[in-house]
Amino acid sequence: MSLPRNILLWASENKLMRNKIPKLKFVKSAVQKFMPGEKPENALTAASHFDLLGIPSVVTRLGENITKIEEGEEVCNHYLDLVDEIENKKLNIELSLKLTQLGFDISEEETYNRFKLITQKVKDKLGNVIWIDMEGSAYTQNTIDFYKKIKNECENVGLCLQAYLYRTEKDVKDLINIGANIRLVKGAYKESPEIAFAQKKDVDQNYIRLAETLLLAAKENNIRAAFGTHDENIIYALIKWSKQSNIQKDKIEFQMLYGIKKEKQKNLAGRGYAVRVLISYGEYWYPWYMRRLAERPANVLFVLKNMFS
Ligand SMILES: Cc1cc2nc3c(=O)[nH]c(=O)nc-3n(C[C@H](O)[C@H](O)[C@H](O)COP(=O)(O)OP(=O)(O)OC[C@H]3O[C@@H](n4cnc5c(N)ncnc54)[C@H](O)[C@@H]3O)c2cc1C
Repeated sequence: MSLPRNILLWASENKLMRNKIPKLKFVKSAVQKFMPGEKPENALTAASHFDLLGIPSVVTRLGENITKIEEGEEVCNHYLDLVDEIENKKLNIELSLKLTQLGFDISEEETYNRFKLITQKVKDKLGNVIWIDMEGSAYTQNTIDFYKKIKNECENVGLCLQAYLYRTEKDVKDLINIGANIRLVKGAYKESPEIAFAQKKDVDQNYIRLAETLLLAAKENNIRAAFGTHDENIIYALIKWSKQSNIQKDKIEFQMLYGIKKEKQKNLAGRGYAVRVLISYGEYWYPWYMRRLAERPANVLFVLKNMFS
């Protein structure tokens, strides 16, 4: 892992910086590159613009590691209201959220009850999938166990898996067996080389290997496979391999973040591939934004440019 990436990921977890940095005006304005605003209506307006381009969305309210159980209640009610808003606006939007945003650190049972409420409402009102983000490795096993349990009761749930973890090869096979909806990403957290590939080329290789396994299962209609990546080499490799393996275009779904590679998103959608844009909003953007900077440390230059302009 590169030094700038390490420093930015360290900063994402630093409490002092977490309190100070979000108050800086130039950082606040730089964040707008990756999110349309802090309010849910900002996300829904952005989603309606993408809708016109034929690109549906995934929407998430930023937040993680809440420390008081009541905060999870507020988050749950917020998502329940959001489902009504999405239904009223008739937008093709799926939701994605982090379990620690609902209280996973404090009570798994409460988190389960809250997540189930949202999932059932999503099924009734929107008839689509709700995604569970994958957080740092301390949560991997519990998140997968949580997913298996909820999947038993509600079909319309998807889970994110991270290609940088050695264990993911086994998790992918295991979850294909239960017909999971899987979003594969490279992984955004600081992990030790004992459990995760440290070199980009190894992560990329593993990503392609896992993606091929997922695509074969999607071809047989066993699962939904979504690829959360902006890596054009990987995107081309998967498209080429899918053509050779007679996998239809609509089985290959790419998900990308708002503000990154918009032209590529339009291009892929125009060519018949399933594409979704993940739109984030909310006030608690600091750790999430630092992970975005860590993915491309050159983004820090953009923040500095904002400071001087
Ligand atoms: C839809 C979606 C959901 C995700 N959910 C999770 C999750 O639940 N858990 C998790 O750990 N991670 C998640 N991630 C983040 C993911 O793990 C990676 O950190 C992130 O996608 C960057 O990896 P990449 O595949 O784009 O490849 P990279 O090799 O990092 O990037 C490839 C190219 O994409 C562009 N790019 C990538 N990131 C940025 C950026 N921040 N700013 C500007 N350009 C950029 C650059 O041109 C770069 O060269 C998610 C990502 C997406 C797209």
